[in-house]
Amino acid sequence: MDAGLKRELEEKVYAGERLTRADGEALYATDDLAWLGRLAHHVRTEKNGDRVMFNVNRHLNLTNVCSASCAYCSFQRKPGEKDAYTMRVEQAVEKALEMKDEQLTELHIVNGLHPTLPWKYYPRVLRALKEALPGVSLKCFTATEVQWFEKISGLSADEILDELIDAGLDSLTGGGAEIFDWEVRQKIVDHACHWEDWSRIHRLAHSKGLRTPSTMLYGHIEEPRHRVDHVMRLRELQDETGGFAVFIPLRYQHDFHDSADGIVRNRIQAQTTMASPAESLKTFAVSRLMLDNFEHVKCFWVMHGLSLAQLSLNFGADDLDGSVVEYKITHDADAYGTPHTMHREDLLQLIWDGGFRPVERNTRYQVVREYDAPVTAADRRREPQQVWA
Ligand code: SF4
Repeated sequence: MDAGLKRELEEKVYAGERLTRADGEALYATDDLAWLGRLAHHVRTEKNGDRVMFNVNRHLNLTNVCSASCAYCSFQRKPGEKDAYTMRVEQAVEKALEMKDEQLTELHIVNGLHPTLPWKYYPRVLRALKEALPGVSLKCFTATEVQWFEKISGLSADEILDELIDAGLDSLTGGGAEIFDWEVRQKIVDHACHWEDWSRIHRLAHSKGLRTPSTMLYGHIEEPRHRVDHVMRLRELQDETGGFAVFIPLRYQHDFHDSADGIVRNRIQAQTTMASPAESLKTFAVSRLMLDNFEHVKCFWVMHGLSLAQLSLNFGADDLDGSVVEYKITHDADAYGTPHTMHREDLLQLIWDGGFRPVERNTRYQVVREYDAPVTAADRRREPQQVWA
């Protein structure tokens, strides 16, 4: 990038001017990662100071049986496969209750598109979970699942959301977004929920007072221009509804244990090496800069590893996913040694050690508790710390 364009982009960011599609693509093309991070860190600090939010949640997958076979997914199983499972309502409640003593505030539930489970199963599970854990928010189902419920029930998304909200739904999840651009999407997604339906369902959820997350799966066969296109669509929808709580870039994962049963489910791994740490930090930074109407950018550490998650806090992220006991979609296996579970104390330490101030939040991003730093870290927290200082 030439010095003139660099100065122009820098001036726009510091003046709070909205960046264009061409600006986003130019930012991805820069080799100056430290400069890009500094711009994103400026915006992140303007919006969120030195706070890093997190919530204590548990991820549950009620079933891994799925009618679709998305090319990036190592989670789905077909009916009758050896490790296919579907939880009974009581099993889901039993699993959730195991975390009761850990002051969990949210359950995050996503599932395969089960071919024969009746629609009524889903509100029934929500009701049972709400009854068992009345203080816990239920963040459940992707827009893809809601569209699937339309298909299996004959109801409209409007009626489905009303029934789910009545059963205790507090938020949808942000999944199913992947990459909206059709050129890429048609090669990786194997269900019928694309931008038109994904945006329709989130728009509807926002109109009913739900705040929802949004995601982007990057680092597979897409190019930076597709990532820019993706966040611009979300930015437009956010202008319209204001209902997105957060944006979450998710790094595409290889399935390192395909050989366990000899079946290659994650079919695009031969075409990609996965995003490097630098590419991931770039994606966080450019997303933060483009999404001027989003308050929060979250790093889901299970998909990035703890080191990268900590660094992402200096590249635009201000939110870390909390205690995750189980998370399986796209992450059945990991060759990096990333733990699958982390608890409150581990997370606090990670945030303090990065030079930030941990703030526990609930699903709606209301503050649950602010944490004082250990004495030894206090000086380091007076100003947001940057890794290249
Ligand atoms: S990503 Fe979701 S819809 Fe696609 S195959 Fe996996 S579980 Fe099924």
